[in-house]
Amino acid sequence: MSIKGTYDPDNIFAKILRGEMPCVKVYEDDHTLAFMDVFPQSRGHMLVIHKQEQARNMLDVSADGLAQIMASVQKLTRAAEQALSPDGIIITQFNGAPAGQTVFHLHFHIIPKYAGDLKAHASGGMADMDELTAIANLIKAAV
Ligand code: 5GP
Repeated sequence: MSIKGTYDPDNIFAKILRGEMPCVKVYEDDHTLAFMDVFPQSRGHMLVIHKQEQARNMLDVSADGLAQIMASVQKLTRAAEQALSPDGIIITQFNGAPAGQTVFHLHFHIIPKYAGDLKAHASGGMADMDELTAIANLIKAAV
């Protein structure tokens, strides 16, 4: 998928937003949704998306939409730090397939990092849903 193109309303995150696909939700406000990544790169790996912006990537999003996403990214980063006590936290965002993007609805990854854990982007297996829900509940309680 090119860095430029048309937004596909049938991408997996659009389906999650329409309630057509499940997600383990951590946080929601008027403009943004945060949920657990089902192929987590670490304990507490979350994704933050905009609910109204039909943006594939950083090039497409409005400045206001981006500000709304980033406010939630910071809120969830703080909650993850409080709830999970990681040694570090990575925030990532990929634009276009060659950069590593696989879902073409703009999203930010919040990836808590623990000393000695070296998992790379898109290398994890599918999470156990009960475990994911338990982690989401810890973070929710800290938002
Ligand atoms: P990207 O590689 O586009 O930056 O990240 C897409 C992310 O979405 C990946 O980390 C992948 O694990 C995650 N993902 C893909 N499909 C689903 C899904 O159906 N549900 C959830 N919660 N995450 C997904």
